[in-house]
Parts: sequence; C-alpha cells; structure tokens
Amino acid sequence: MGQVIKVGIREKVTLIAAGILCLAIGVTVVTSDYAFRRAYADALQSRSLAIGKGLKLQLDRLIQFGIKVEELTGFEEQCQDIVKEYTGISYAMVVGGDGTILFHNNPAKQGQAVVDSAILRALKARAEGIVVSSEQGAEYYVAMIPVAGLRGEYVASVAVGFPVALVVNKTREMAVFGVVTGAASIATAVVGLLVFLSIFVTKPLGKLVGTIDEVRRSADISRRVNTYSKDELGALATAFNAMMENLEKTTVSKAGLASKVEERTRELLEVQEELVRKEKLAILGQVAGSVGHELRNPLGVMSNAVYFLQTVLSDADETTREYLDIIKNEIAGSERIVSDLLDSVRTKPPQPERVGLQALLEQTLGKLVIPSSITVKLDIPATLHPLRVDAMQIHQVFRNLISNGVEAMPQGGTLEIRATEEVAAQTVTVSIRDSGIGMAPEVLAKLFQPLFTTKARGIGLGLVVVKNLTQANGGTVAVQSEPGKGTTFSITLQVA
Ligand code: ADP
Ligand code: MG
Repeated sequence: MGQVIKVGIREKVTLIAAGILCLAIGVTVVTSDYAFRRAYADALQSRSLAIGKGLKLQLDRLIQFGIKVEELTGFEEQCQDIVKEYTGISYAMVVGGDGTILFHNNPAKQGQAVVDSAILRALKARAEGIVVSSEQGAEYYVAMIPVAGLRGEYVASVAVGFPVALVVNKTREMAVFGVVTGAASIATAVVGLLVFLSIFVTKPLGKLVGTIDEVRRSADISRRVNTYSKDELGALATAFNAMMENLEKTTVSKAGLASKVEERTRELLEVQEELVRKEKLAILGQVAGSVGHELRNPLGVMSNAVYFLQTVLSDADETTREYLDIIKNEIAGSERIVSDLLDSVRTKPPQPERVGLQALLEQTLGKLVIPSSITVKLDIPATLHPLRVDAMQIHQVFRNLISNGVEAMPQGGTLEIRATEEVAAQTVTVSIRDSGIGMAPEVLAKLFQPLFTTKARGIGLGLVVVKNLTQANGGTVAVQSEPGKGTTFSITLQVA
C-alpha cells in the first residue's frame, strides 16, 4: 500500500503494444521490400524488352527493304532516340554475332567489341531474354533480342540496358517510406493507447487504490468507489464496495462500542439503584410497619383529645386556641408522615373506579395550603376521558408532587398542571411543572430512593409513594429537570 509505482500497467501495456507493432511493421517492410523489388525489377525488365523489340522492329523493316545490317548507316540515331525517350534506359545498341558493337547511342563505342561475358554468352546462344552485365563496377539488366535476316538467319542482337541500381534505389525509397509511415503509425498508436489506458485503466485503478489508501489511513469504512464500467475494473470496484459493506456490517465502531458500554453501565446502575431501593424498602417496611401502627393509635387519641378540648374550650382565650390549632396541625402533619411511611412500604391493592381528573385535582388543591407567592395554572381539557384509577391513591400522588413543587419555589413562582390525552394509546398524561430550583443530575439519579431527601425537614418518602402508587395503578412516572429553571413530573395513566 502506498508504494510508488515506477512502471505502471499503462506503460507496460503500451511498451508491449509498441514492441508488437514495431515487429509487425518491420516484418511488413522487409517482405514488401522483397516483393516490391522483384515486381519492380520484373516490370522494368519487361519494359526494356518491349523497348528492345521496338528497336528490333525498326531494324526488321530496314532488313526487309533488302538492306544488310553491315551496310546500314546512321542507326545509332534510333538508339539515341530510345535513351532520350525512355527514362532509366542507360544504353541501346546493336551487336553483331561476333560481339562487335554495330550501333550504339554513344557513337564512340561503335566498332568496339563487347567484353562482358554474360552478353557474349547470350549472343552465342542467340537467345531472347534478360542478362545481368557489369561494366566499370556498375551492374546492368540488359534485354537481349536476336534479329534475323531475310532468310531467317541470325544477323545481330539488339541490347537495351538499364542499371540494377534503379531498382535498388526505388526499393530503398519504398523501404524508407514504409519505415517512416510505420513509425508515424506506431507513435499515433502509442499516444492513443496511453490516453485510452489512462482513461479506462489507470484512472479507475488510481481511484480504487486511493480509496483503499484513504480507508487504511482514516479507518473510515463507510467509503465507496464509484463504479461505472462493466469490465474487470468495474467488477473489482463492485467487489471492493461489497467487501466494505460487509466489513461495515460486521465491524463495531469505537464510538458505537463506547456508547454501548455507556448504555450497559447506565442500565446496570439503574438496576443497582432499584435493588438498593428495594432493599431499603424491605428494611423500612419491617420498622415502619410496626412503628407506624404503634404511632397511629396515639395520634388518633391525641387528635380526638384536641377536638374535645376545642369544643369544651370554645370560649378560651386567643393564645390557648392558637396553641390548640398548632397541636392540631402538627398532629395532622405527623399523621401524614405515618401514612406516607405505611404507603411507601406496603401499598394496598388499588380499588379502580371511573375518576374525573378535573374534580380530583381540584379536591387535591383544596386540601393543600399554597402560599400566595405561587400562581397555580390548571389546564385540564373538558373533553378528557375519565381515568380508571384508585381515586384516593392518585390523589396522594398529586398531593406529594404538588407539595414538592411548592417546596421547590420558596421565593414563589408558577405551578402549571396540564393534562393531555393520547387517544391511540388510551392514556392521559398529567404534567406538574414548577418554576423552582430544579435538580442536579446526582439528585435526579437518587430521586426515587426511600429516605433520599435534600430538605432539612424532609423524610424522603414522598416520591417513593408517588412511584409505588402510580405503578400500582398501571401508570408510569417521568421527570425532567434543569437546575435553576424548574422541574416537570409527568404521570401517565390509563383512561377508563
Ligand atoms: P422530601 O420531599 O421529603 O425531601 P421526596 O421524595 O418528596 O422527599 O423528594 C425527594 C427529593 O427530591 C427532595 O428532597 C428534593 O431534593 C427532590 N425533589 C423532589 N421534587 C422536586 C421538585 N419539584 N423540585 C426540585 N427538587 C425536587
Ligand atoms: Mg416531598
């Protein structure tokens, strides 16, 4: 991964393709050269034979007039015409059977003897055809055509020569042309191949490698490669994406793991809180059960005694009546504590009935003393269905929640009680919201533990009773609080 690629696929493929092209073009040039050389030589030879035959015809005509070859004069002019007229032809001559040059386009050569053995051999054989002669280091193709006399006897041969170099030069020219066009097409092919490979191979591959590299570096396994081609590279990208998909499904991210651990820890803590709560309740239950009972009777007796004294001392002085009131109120407070104590440890089975929420809340508020610094807002829709609960128990739930709300607003504030119905769930949620001191998270965590209180005169049973009685009536309790802003308790209950 991340290694530097020196010779890429693109370069390798291009190099191989260029090599193959070079070889193909090389072989083509060599073979076509050979074929061309032969064809061109053939053509030039046939041409020189034809030219030679033309010259022979002129000679034949003169012979038919009865002129003998050795008596003929001025025929070198015809020879000169041919050399002038046909490009490439080096010489034209008429040679006698003994090898003496009778006529030559170069008159200086007339009367000389031919020395070349190949021509001499052809003369002796009196044959028609092409021979290769060499003269002063240069080679010539020579077309030899025998000429007959009036009686058909051999008289001389016409010889028309052109240089072998003519063929060689033309062939070389052709080869150079072939090599140049070949090189041009190789260059074009190489450029084309480079572009093609870079579009269809190098770039998609680079993208794939880049993505893999990024995944490795950032450990971000949500990355994917764009796939658009239907070739092997497309398949590779698709396979890579599928692999990443699987990886993502089976990999637990660090963040996910951390939040899982957090969640489990919180659940464990909640279970632990609940266990502690239950344990405390169990111990409390034993103590409260007996003490509560024991206290109830004397409190009842005291309450009766105060009632008796109040009736008997109806004309007593102000101070005595005041003290009797104080005793009466304190007894009522003590009775409430005892009943909280008993309710918190052994909840009596609820006696559910149809209860109108509005009436129930008005009754609860009526029994509570709410300081004038606190505004109570009651918002209960008239369309609300009645609840199916134990009226006394739910009254106690509301009483405890409203008391807490009032106690949370020592400087005064607003207490809002509203109800909403969730028709589909057939439930009503009553929320009791104060604008009081609110709660810190650590208070929230221990809220429902028996005996947990932050108040000097609190006993920490109010919310235990709230939870027990709400749950006994098939409901749930939720709480939301912000320090300094206030608290909202929500009780959700079934409608009748
Ligand atoms: P107590 O009222 O006797 O303290 P509770 O069970 O009623 O016991 O309440 C426990 C604790 O929860 C309180 O001491 C208080 O710290 C906190 N608490 C309950 N209700 C509220 C509220 N509405 N606003 C702020 N704190 C509250
Ligand atoms: Mg309380």
